[in-house]
Amino acid sequence: MATRRDYYEILGVPRDATQEEIKKAYKKLAKKWHPDLNPQNRKEAEERFKEITEAYQVLSDPEKRAQYDRFGYVGDQPFNHNTTGGGSIFQDLFGDFEDIFDMFFGRRPGTSATRERVSKPGEDIHHFVTIDLEDVLTGKEVPLEYERKTVCSACNGTGAEGGTSFRTCHRCGGTGVIREEQRTFFGSFVNTYTCPVCGGTGRIVDKKCRVCGGIGFVKERKRIKLKIPPGVEDGARLRISGGGHAGLNGGPNGDLYVTVKIRPHPTFQRKGDDVYLGINVHFLQAILGGTVEIPTLEGPIKLKINPGTQPDTLLRLRGKGLPNMRTGKRGDMYVKIKVEIPTRISRKEKEILEKLAEISKIDVKK
Ligand SMILES: [Zn+2]
Ligand SMILES: [Zn+2]
Repeated sequence: MATRRDYYEILGVPRDATQEEIKKAYKKLAKKWHPDLNPQNRKEAEERFKEITEAYQVLSDPEKRAQYDRFGYVGDQPFNHNTTGGGSIFQDLFGDFEDIFDMFFGRRPGTSATRERVSKPGEDIHHFVTIDLEDVLTGKEVPLEYERKTVCSACNGTGAEGGTSFRTCHRCGGTGVIREEQRTFFGSFVNTYTCPVCGGTGRIVDKKCRVCGGIGFVKERKRIKLKIPPGVEDGARLRISGGGHAGLNGGPNGDLYVTVKIRPHPTFQRKGDDVYLGINVHFLQAILGGTVEIPTLEGPIKLKINPGTQPDTLLRLRGKGLPNMRTGKRGDMYVKIKVEIPTRISRKEKEILEKLAEISKIDVKK
């Protein structure tokens, strides 16, 4: 059997040390050799930590200390790791781990965060739809399908199987903390430690929800009918309040933002609430006047061409444009007239035109 180090030696205290001195020495050493604070030499730290805790457990107990002083061991055989009053010291040690940690270093980081269930709004979702210019005139209902994170309905977002909410922890009464008053020979003190039953959350999940795996959220394919208002501008962003991802711990949903894109039109150009159209008119029609059929956003109409219409004349058709998104008042349509001059004419046409020039007293040769 390997020789065991003396408990007084381990704690570095004299044999007549007071309880206060023993406690002080233990605190100092436990802090030094706590395995969590020695990640580089964790194995050695664990051994040392075990050793000093073992020494402290004996020397801090007046009865055990007296027995140790007299016989050099505690119990009916020399002290070892496997027997200490029937229980494993290692188990005792790790059962007390959080207790010890809290005693020296305060709360573990993250413990309080899990206890106070912080609610947070969900994230926003961004999408876009493309519509035609004609749709801007009337507005449009566009079906939209997208995926979002939603609260698991099977467990009501608790993550607990069966739809029941978390049970309040019976051990700590939902606070996540155990407070114990201990009366000893040296006086009483209050010991506070993280509840080992619920891990500090104050709540118990017996069984994780099978639908969401315990996270409380599932993916949902959401189908909506998006109402696009008349007069919508290209690049406009529509906000659907609450259409985004579900919030955390009962926080509100995020929003859905849909950017509207307007497909370029082959015939019309848009400028604000007005639309522009270019048409070709034969030069004879421009001179003589007449009627042409032109397209509008609502279908073809007849347009009167006055005699003597000049090239690049801009005709304004009041109220034939697009509605204003805010006022609903419609803009205008502008028709730009391009006078077409034929690149080729027949012999007969040429004769007539030369005659016309003569009548008009225009010397074209000059
Ligand atoms: Zn608890
Ligand atoms: Zn669930």
